[in-house]
Amino acid sequence: MNHNLFATFATQMHKRGNADFITTREGRRYSYTDALTQSARLAGALTALGVRQGDRVAVQVDKSPEAILLYLACLRMGGVYLPLNTGYTGDEIRYFLSDAEPALFVCRPAVADEARRIAADTGCPAVVTLGSAADGSLMDEAESADPHDDIAELNDRNLAAILYTSGTTGRSKGAMLTHQNLASNAETLVDAWHFSADDRLIHALPIFHTHGLFVACNVTLMAGASMLFLPKFDVDVIFDELPHGNVMMGVPTFYTRLVQDERLTPEATANMRLFISGSAPLTAETHEAFEAKTGHAILERYGMTETNMNLSNPYEGARRAGTVGMPLPGVEMRITDRETGDEVAPGEIGMLQIRGPNVFIGYWRMPEKTREELLDDGFFITGDLALVDEQGYVHIVGRDKDLVISGGYNVYPKEIEQVIDELEGVSESAVIGLPHPDFGEGVAAAVVPQPGANLDEATILDHLQGKLAKYKQPKRVFFIDELPRNTMGKVQKNELRKRFNDTFS
Ligand code: ATP
Ligand code: MG
Repeated sequence: MNHNLFATFATQMHKRGNADFITTREGRRYSYTDALTQSARLAGALTALGVRQGDRVAVQVDKSPEAILLYLACLRMGGVYLPLNTGYTGDEIRYFLSDAEPALFVCRPAVADEARRIAADTGCPAVVTLGSAADGSLMDEAESADPHDDIAELNDRNLAAILYTSGTTGRSKGAMLTHQNLASNAETLVDAWHFSADDRLIHALPIFHTHGLFVACNVTLMAGASMLFLPKFDVDVIFDELPHGNVMMGVPTFYTRLVQDERLTPEATANMRLFISGSAPLTAETHEAFEAKTGHAILERYGMTETNMNLSNPYEGARRAGTVGMPLPGVEMRITDRETGDEVAPGEIGMLQIRGPNVFIGYWRMPEKTREELLDDGFFITGDLALVDEQGYVHIVGRDKDLVISGGYNVYPKEIEQVIDELEGVSESAVIGLPHPDFGEGVAAAVVPQPGANLDEATILDHLQGKLAKYKQPKRVFFIDELPRNTMGKVQKNELRKRFNDTFS
């Protein structure tokens, strides 16, 4: 049996023929037939440029339908797709190219000269360009190369992609994902979220991350559905397009922006069948406000670069605010004590571990890190703390690395953040642990006030009195204009810890 994920997609492509695959607001359109022919042409270009089965193809380009065709071309000929965050600077690219040793680097036309220098320095043999308007040398190569019509014959261990993690807790790690990993998760999600060829996904996410690339695109391809590709999230454009799509996948910031807009009504969302959220925690308030304004309960799910999606609220049945639902079919979960590694009782907080066909096979060239996090029995230590409630729904409590241990007591930042956020005038907050001479770590809070709010440290601390045990109460409160977030909307507590590091010393 050929495990090439493209073989499965190709079946849909033949079936869907001239139906839409990707369209843009500028009127660009690729049908499923186009996806077949263009992926063959691009696979021909990759071969002509020297890429062979198993070689990495590093890609740092702006979002475009052609970038997805390139991803498909890579799958088709057995190359390993390696997308890179468009925000990475030259120095960061230098690191990734020396780490991944790709056979080809596909970059933006505007930075071609710098890219060639970096490629030469890091031993990457070829560079081509791809622009967001289908410009650049790659598309020219595809025109002139012999199409590569075959679908590479692959086994269940062959890599489809190396995807770097978001780097929220440290340096990004390259997660090695097989065709099998991606195929199993896409199949599961199509079923779990009731995707079909009738769906039209509003796609406003970046495509260098698991959410916008694998969850969105693989599910669309597996179902034979279509996508409207938007360069980024723009509230006005979203309201314009909501009547023409029926599913949206977003990070929580999409939804917090939408609920603040008076155009968000049941009428505006009447054509939609599903809103999905993930990549960072969606607050219960946003979930509830969205439902109150539209009648739609956002479906929150949980996943990560290393595993694709693991847990999801149900499609049918209650989608509960502040929870990420339960394990998807085929995915096993256990929650273990941080110290002993034994499974904890229901309701208790512990380390969330995941096992299933979706779990990656290791970190690229990091055998030790792989051994630490991917256990012999197949369970992967996610690094997130979680608990299961009486109804079987999982609550993500936060990252293990963000847990504060103050005077020997565990302090879970989310618990404190929730109480601070209730206070009138608070927009949001982040609780962190900072080095403290007596307590090991001292609890501190960074608070973002709402515009015009009249808050000071004493107001916040008074509000917490009697609501939280003394050891959980921040010893210092800082006011900041906004929380540091990366492109996926994840709060970068590392940055906050660095900034306020010397507070108690
Ligand atoms: P790094 O591993 O490099 O520190 P990262 O963990 O942020 O970065 P990703 O793989 O992009 O990189 O993100 C996965 C993480 O995102 C999860 O481990 C979890 O902490 C968080 N996450 C994803 N979905 C949710 C969700 N619905 N609720 C809460 N957290 C979520
Ligand atoms: Mg991670």
